[in-house]
Order: sequence, then structure tokens, then C-alpha cells
Amino acid sequence: MINQQALEKLVAENRAITATGTVASYIPKLKEKNPSDLGIYVFTEDGAEYGAGDYNTKFTIQSISKIFVFALAVMDNGEREVFKLIGVEPTGDSFNSIANLELKDTHKPYNPMINAGAILATSMIHGNNKKEKFNRILDLIRACCGNSSLEINESVYHSEKDTGDRNRALAYFIKSYGLIEDEVDNVMDTYFKQCSIEVTCRDIAHAAWIISNNGVNKRTGQRVLSQRICSILKTVMFTCGLYDASGSFALDVGMPSKSGVGGGILSTTNTGIGIGVYGPALDQKGNSVAGAAMLKAISRDNGLAIF
Ligand code: GLN
Repeated sequence: MINQQALEKLVAENRAITATGTVASYIPKLKEKNPSDLGIYVFTEDGAEYGAGDYNTKFTIQSISKIFVFALAVMDNGEREVFKLIGVEPTGDSFNSIANLELKDTHKPYNPMINAGAILATSMIHGNNKKEKFNRILDLIRACCGNSSLEINESVYHSEKDTGDRNRALAYFIKSYGLIEDEVDNVMDTYFKQCSIEVTCRDIAHAAWIISNNGVNKRTGQRVLSQRICSILKTVMFTCGLYDASGSFALDVGMPSKSGVGGGILSTTNTGIGIGVYGPALDQKGNSVAGAAMLKAISRDNGLAIF
């Protein structure tokens, strides 16, 4: 049963797990988050919504942005063009690994849920200049999250921009194989901005609920994403959404999900349920340690696994 009391209990039972993780520090500004924060928000299939714990605390979307940017790249260029450049295979490597780009013949990023694939997807977004491209990404994220006031956190954006050389290296590497047309600086500026968009658990739960309902906002009747794009997103989230922990997470939780180093995890279903969790203390692979534990419990208690 998913209700207010059940969510409160979930947060209370899992809060201590936050102590086993650490807040991301390779983007210096992220370090300032409270490691014991933990929150969850759920949209249920009958349209109810519940939040518990630190569900109202803002955090940066980070890699959760990858699903929306990939969706927009597919809308702009078509599936065939995007899949020519970006694969859909899990890597078993960390989210910012460069290894496969060099070692594999095609030099094609393995999937859009890791940094290499996401940076390439960002470079494929249509627009006359970087401002227009970023605004189109922001508009889609706002529509999916049902929140027209989402903005970037300027200090996190600058913090990552000042320290993002590894991501720049990935972009230059990909560009050296002719896969990126635009200037790397422009692409990376948009990438750093998309990662710095500030959200709450409710925002990402709303987006998970839209994806669960195959792209339609059930309250307004508005279509935000196509059914096909939702199928593609659920597939890549299930197989690749938690980097090199994707397989064990799929086994434990069984819901298509996407994590970010800001501490959020967006989890969707095939039954109209959307979930967002937040806990900035991360495990070694960069996933919210207590957030994942709550998702495991809520999935087990309510039969949310898709298989
Ligand atoms: N902005 C982060 C980065 O590129 C996103 C990574 C993540 O959330 N795993 O390193």
C-alpha cells in the first residue's frame, strides 16, 4: 500500500543508511549538501500524490537530465540518426569512463545514460545557438516535471564548469572521431547547465509519472512525450540507468530508473506510478545509497518490479 504513513515509515527506516554513503565532492559545490537528507515523493496510478522526509529540498538534477536530453535528441533527429551515433548497450564501467571510446572500433558511446553518450546527445539538440538549445532542453524538463519555474543553480553550474575537464576530455575525444559538429565549449556549456537544473523529489516523480503513462499527463490530457520515446527511455533506464550498478539495481528494484550524483533517483513503472527520491549520500558508484534502499523496499512491498 502506498500512502502517507507508508512513505513516512520508509524514510524513518532508511535514514540511518545515509551514514554509509558520501556526498559527491568532485564537483566542489555538491559537497555542501546535508548527507543525512532523505526524501521521497510518489504519484500513484489513481492520481494521488504523497511526499515524506526531505521531499521539498532542492537538488541538482545532474545525470537524470540525460533521459530528457536523449528524448529531445531523438525528437529532433529521429531514432535512426541518433542510434547511428549512440548505442543502447550497458557498459559495466563508471559513468565518466573514456575506455570504450578508445578501445572499441566504432568509437561510439555505448549508451545515452553515461557521460560520453549524454554529451553527444547534447551536441545533437537543434537550435540556432547554445542559448536556444539549452532553453529547449529546459522547456522539455519543465514540461515533464510539471514545473514551469525550474531554473539552474548558478553556483553548481560554475563549480562544474570550473572543474569539468574530464567531461571536456570525453567531448574532445568524441569530436576527434568526427561525431560532434559544434564547438566543444558550446556543447559543454549546455551540458553543464542541463546538469545544474534544480529540482525536488516531486519534480522528478512527476516526470516518472508522465513516462509511466506513456508520455501523457493524465490530469491535463496533454501529451508531453511520444509513446515510442517512453518505451525507449524505459528500456535504456532499465539496462543502463544506474551506470555500472544497473544490473544489480534492476534485480533489486526492478523499475526503470535514472540516478544523478546530486542524489536524486527517478523511478518509473508500467502501471502509472512515478517515484522520485533524494539522498545526497552516494555509494561508490555514484548512486544515492539510502534512496536506492527505499526504492528496493517500496518495490518489494508493492510489487512494482516490471518483471
Ligand atoms: N554533471 C555530472 C558529471 O558530468 C553528472 C554525472 C552524474 O550525475 N553521474 O559528472
